[in-house]
Formats: sequence, structure tokens, C-alpha cells
Amino acid sequence: LVRLRARLARSQNVFGRGLLDLLSSDRLDEDAWDEIEDTLITADVGVTSAAQIVQGLRTRVKVLGSRTPEEVRELLRQELIAQINPELDRTVLTGPHGERPGVVMVVGVNGTGKTTTTGKLARVLVGDGRSVVLGAADTFRAAAADQLETWGSRVGAPVVRKDEGADPASVAFDAVARGLADGVDTVIIDTAGRLHTKVGLMDELGKVKRVVEKQSQVDEVLLVLDATTGQNGLRQARVFAEAVNVTGIVLTKLDGTAKGGIIIQVQRELGVPVKLVGLGEGPDDLAPFDAEEFVDAVLR
Ligand code: GDP
Repeated sequence: LVRLRARLARSQNVFGRGLLDLLSSDRLDEDAWDEIEDTLITADVGVTSAAQIVQGLRTRVKVLGSRTPEEVRELLRQELIAQINPELDRTVLTGPHGERPGVVMVVGVNGTGKTTTTGKLARVLVGDGRSVVLGAADTFRAAAADQLETWGSRVGAPVVRKDEGADPASVAFDAVARGLADGVDTVIIDTAGRLHTKVGLMDELGKVKRVVEKQSQVDEVLLVLDATTGQNGLRQARVFAEAVNVTGIVLTKLDGTAKGGIIIQVQRELGVPVKLVGLGEGPDDLAPFDAEEFVDAVLR
């Protein structure tokens, strides 16, 4: 796994730089605070969080009489970390549990990076010496299963797939059955994400989960969100979170956006921890999310 801070430091995720410039200005007057709030909103931190951060910062600057840019930077750092809730458990539960493999479902809208995330996660586990089976439960497009097979052979994980149009739940069932039979550590199920049939999709995901639970448990439902999609991504996230019990968020494409503040909003709105972040298209471009590391990278 790559280190979040080092990787973000090389990315475009620089909303902190503007903040630091503003904070180091001589006069922290009304206009300066407004600009700080605007900068946070532009970075997709969300209106509520932006207001809270600025409010908290103003109060503490006043009470503590902090003035140097270093002091104010440290206060901002603390406000941002507090918004991300550093106490949340961000462990990705991958099993195994006794005789049964850990089961991870990867869900999200097409194009967000589900298949890529599935491949990267498999890579991490296999790299740790664990055995992994992948399930290609997006049976709507044959290309999706092909793409997963490419990842599978790249990272050394067999792929269970069926013909185009097969029942996604039966693929998931077979993947878990294979995991049980072969005594593998983790089964990761890549699911479909055609949101234009929203109700159909949510029913389908529910069915996949129920069918898996006939012979095992689902340990994680990871919702993949594209960090570059802002409010739209947030709306998608709500739909998924209402329909399936999402246990963690994977925020992808954080390498290509200055809007990393979406992490704060996503977590606040959904109450679900961001567990992993995608920092590129390659097999090693996945990092565990850590609030302090993230904030330090943003405020570099
Ligand atoms: P799916 O339809 O949800 O399975 O999405 P894919 O896994 O096919 O990914 C869609 C596109 O996003 C592909 O071109 C991926 O290479 C790209 N992608 C996925 N994750 C990341 C990431 O973290 N950073 C960048 N820059 N691209 C990503």
C-alpha cells in the first residue's frame, strides 16, 4: 500500500495551499474569513462543515490570541481532523473467519472505479500472502468480466464468471462456494452499477447479498465513489446507503482533483467511514485512509 501523504503531496490536491496563504495574511478580517470559507466550499468540504470549521477557527484564534501563521495552521489542522472524525474504525474486514472466507462486496455506479478497486484490493491481499477469489457479478456487460479477468491474472486471483446476462446473485454464490471449497481467505465480489435502473440495481444488490448469506456472511460492503463528481457523487452515495448496508467508502480518483474536501462531506452525510482512497489507475494506487495524514497532505 502506498503512503497517502506522499502520494497526495504529488497530486493536485492542493486546496490547503490557498487556505494557508489566506491565514498568513496580516489581518484576519471579515473578508479573509469569508474567503477561507469560500475556499473550503470550493474544495467540496460542504457548506455546513465549512461554516463550522471557520467558526471554530475564529473562536479559537480569538480565545487563544493565536497570531503566527504556524499557530493558526495548527488550529486549522485540528478543525479539519475533527470534521473527519479520526475516531472512526477504518479497518477493512477481509477475513478469513475460521473455515469461511471473508466476503467483500464492491458496489457503486459504473465508471467510479469498482473493478479497478477490486483489482487493487486483491493485489494488496495477495501481496500479504493471502488467497483471493474474485466474483464478476456485473453480468450485464461481458466487458466488465473481461476487465476483472485482466486484473485477476495481473494480481494472481482466479475469477468466477458466467455468461453475459446470467443472474448476478448466482455468480456471487458460486464465487463464495469456490472460496469455501478451496479454503481461500477472501472473496471479493465486483457488482454492476447501471444507475438508470435504480430500483432494479438496488434490488439486485440486495439479492446478491442475501444469496451470499445463504452460505457465508458479507463482511464489508464497500461503496466506491468518484471524488471528482462532487454533489452528484454524494447523491449516488445516499441512494446506495439507503438500499444496502454500506460499511465503508472507497473514494477514488483523489489524484485528479483539488476537491478532496468531499471526504469530509461524504462522511458527515452518510456516517460511514472512508476506508480506502484511490490515487491512480495502477495496481498499487490504493491507500488506507487516515484523517491526520490526509489533512497534513492537504495543508502542506
Ligand atoms: P467501474 O465501471 O466502476 O468498474 O470503473 P472502472 O474500474 O472500470 O474505472 C473507470 C475508470 O476510472 C478507469 O479508466 C480506471 O482506470 C479509472 N480509475 C479508477 N480508479 C482510479 C483512481 O483512483 N485514479 C484515477 N486517476 N483513475 C482511476
